[in-house]
Amino acid sequence: MVWRLLDAGETVIVIDRLSTGFDWAVPPEANLVIGDIGDQDLVAKVLREHAVEAVFHFAGSIVVPESVNDPLGYYLNNTVKSRALIEACVTAGVPHFIFSSTAAVYGTPVDNDPVAEDAALRPESPYGTSKLMTEMMLHDAAAAHPLNYACLRYFNVAGADPAGRTGQSTRDATHLIKVATQTALSKRPFMQVFGTDYPTPDGTCIRDYIHVTDLVEAHYLALQHLRSTGRNLVANCGYGHGHSVLEVVDVVRRMSGEDFEVRLTERRAGDAVTIVANSDRIKQELDWQPRYDDLEKIVTHALNWEAALTRRNTGPDSAK
Ligand code: UDP
Repeated sequence: MVWRLLDAGETVIVIDRLSTGFDWAVPPEANLVIGDIGDQDLVAKVLREHAVEAVFHFAGSIVVPESVNDPLGYYLNNTVKSRALIEACVTAGVPHFIFSSTAAVYGTPVDNDPVAEDAALRPESPYGTSKLMTEMMLHDAAAAHPLNYACLRYFNVAGADPAGRTGQSTRDATHLIKVATQTALSKRPFMQVFGTDYPTPDGTCIRDYIHVTDLVEAHYLALQHLRSTGRNLVANCGYGHGHSVLEVVDVVRRMSGEDFEVRLTERRAGDAVTIVANSDRIKQELDWQPRYDDLEKIVTHALNWEAALTRRNTGPDSAK
């Protein structure tokens, strides 16, 4: 997102406490302020000094099983700190707020059809609830104050910048495409497929994998939408069709040329069978036109980034 904003000639300030991220991931043209979004004095200072016009709120914890084990940690990091950030924006008069929400607000879709924004909101984890509570705060704060917002509900984000400038770098990642590309590059001895007895054509779960660059574009269009219309928006970010776990594994094997070991194991607790977006709204409202709706491209960019990370971690800068 930072690269996209810089490419568009915007001025960008990043606030990050670097709990899971890295300072090297921030482009040199952006200002990095190391700090916590829950620190209202710090945030107020940044908003005032730079006359900030829009906040993109990406800061949050995202691992569903972790949220089940540490619900209060998730409500602190995702909900309480979001409240602090929203309040700082209201106080400073920031007009636009774009929030990273999640398909987890829906819980398990009733009928496995693509899920639309007006479906019932029944999160099944503290993670999903923590994000839904932030959506609710934004709704109410925007009704009371001169603030407008977009909540973008992400489906399964994957891939990396096609230009190779950035990609997923968090340690101990658990997401399927990240894990599979790491296995292909021998960073893991094998990978697991969690459950092969689901009611799907090949027995494995189906997800809607969205390329990070298309997701970023949705954010940029949401910003333009808020600037020009001032109308709040809640929208799914997915392609509207899914792939099974085994299909993903097959594509990673083909694109990498590595026949890595895959162990078929038990179901992972809490996995829904199928989660696919109905993406009509974002296409209509933002004229969003995905450019990377292609699993081979997603996987290729993820593999390229994983290889670049290897070079970074073994190169001259690796001691930093
Ligand atoms: N998955 C898997 N092996 C892995 C990681 C994930 O089989 O090492 C499966 C997981 O059970 C789910 C799908 O891949 O069915 C997507 O999981 P991921 O954690 O990437 O995203 P989620 O949909 O849970 O947010």
